Amino acid sequence: MTKTESSSSHIILDQQIFQDNLDVIKKSLNTGVKLSAVIKGNAYGHGISTFVPLAENAGINHFAVYGIEEARAFASAAREGSALMIMGYISQDDLTWVLQEGYEFYIYDLQQLNLALRIAQEVGRKAQIHVEMETGMNRTGIDETDFEKLCEILSVNGHLLTLCGVCTHFAGAESLSNRERILSQAHRFEEYLKLFEKKNVHFERKHAACSAAALRYPEFQYDMVRIGILLYGFWPNQETLGAYLSETRETHDPLTSILSWKSQVMTIKQVKAGEYIGYGTSYLANQTTRIAIIPVGYAHGYARSLSNQGRVLINGHRVPVVGIVNMNMMAADITNIGEVERGDEVVLIGFQKESRITVASFGEMSSQMNYELLARLPHNIPRKILQ
Ligand SMILES: *Cc1c(COP(=O)(O)O)cnc(C)c1O
Repeated sequence: MTKTESSSSHIILDQQIFQDNLDVIKKSLNTGVKLSAVIKGNAYGHGISTFVPLAENAGINHFAVYGIEEARAFASAAREGSALMIMGYISQDDLTWVLQEGYEFYIYDLQQLNLALRIAQEVGRKAQIHVEMETGMNRTGIDETDFEKLCEILSVNGHLLTLCGVCTHFAGAESLSNRERILSQAHRFEEYLKLFEKKNVHFERKHAACSAAALRYPEFQYDMVRIGILLYGFWPNQETLGAYLSETRETHDPLTSILSWKSQVMTIKQVKAGEYIGYGTSYLANQTTRIAIIPVGYAHGYARSLSNQGRVLINGHRVPVVGIVNMNMMAADITNIGEVERGDEVVLIGFQKESRITVASFGEMSSQMNYELLARLPHNIPRKILQ
C-alpha cells in the first residue's frame, strides 16, 4: 500500500520548471535589466516561504511585495543579501521595522515621504525609497502639483534618503486596447525623468513594467522590471501569449506552471445503480459506480463551481468529479480506470504519468482567472520544493 501523507493535500513547487521559465523570460529582457520577482498575494498563492528560497536558488535577489504581512513572511524566508521592495501601504509603526531591516519601499505621496524622513532620523538609518509618480493610472503616485515640493525635499535630505528608484505602473499593458493610454503614461514618466535630471535629482533605477509591459513594450523596461505571473508559469492573459508567439514565431507556450497540488484517495465506495452521490440529487449513478473520496473541498480552495465539472488525475487517468464539492471533501468516478487503492495519489493540478491538469483549464472550468485562483489557495496547505 502507498504511504499516506499526513495532510489532506499538499503543494509542490518545481525548481527545474522555474529555471526553464526564468530562461524564457530572460530572453525577452534587454541587457543589464534587473528582474524583481513580485511575490504579492503570498507569492500568487504559491507560498512566500517556499517560493523565495526556490527563486534564490535560481539567482534572484530582488523581490517585491505590497504589504507588511508579506514583508514579514519574506524576512523569515529570505537569505542574507536578498533585497525587498514594498510597493504598498506601510503604517507609521511598521516603517520603523522596515528601516531597521534596510528594506526598500514606495513613496506614493508627500505625507509618506515626510513620515519616512522623520523615522529615518529617529532610527538613525537612511530610508531606501522608490518614488512612485502618477502618470495616468490614477491609483497611487505623486501628482504633478507636488513635483516642485518633492524635488526640494529630496534635494535637502540626502543624508536621510537613498534614492533607490523612480517608478510608475501601467494601467493594463496586457490589452492592446489600452495601448494609447500606456504610451501616454510612458510619455509622462519620461517627462518626469527629464525634469528630475534638470533638478539634479538622481535615482539608482527607473522601473515601470510588469510581465505584460516587459514583453509588449520592451522599450519601457528601463533598468528593472517587476515580474510576477510569468515567473510562476502563467500568462497575464491569452492575448499576451498570442502576441508573444507571433513575435517569436514559436509554436507552443514555452511556460509551464511550477505548481502541483496533490492529495490522495481517502476511501473507496461502490454505489449501486439508481442511488445519488453526496448531498442532494445532483448526481445519480446510472450504473454500478466506484467512487474515490478525496479529502479536499472548497475550504481548501477547490472551487464549489467545479461540482460535477472538475477533473482530477488518478493513476495517470483523468477522471470526473461527481456530485457537489463539499467543504472538506469531494468524490471522483473511478469506475473505468482499473485498480485504485486507498492512499493512491490524486493530482488536482499538475502532472501524473502522461496526463496533466493545468490551472488554466481549471480556471476556465470554474470561470476564475489565473491570478484569482492561485491567490485563493489557502496559506495552510503544506508546500515543498521539488529539486
Ligand atoms: C502585481 C504587480 C506587478 C507584477 O504584475 P504581473 O502581471 O504579475 O507581472 C508589477 N508591479 C506592480 C506595481 C504590481 O502591482
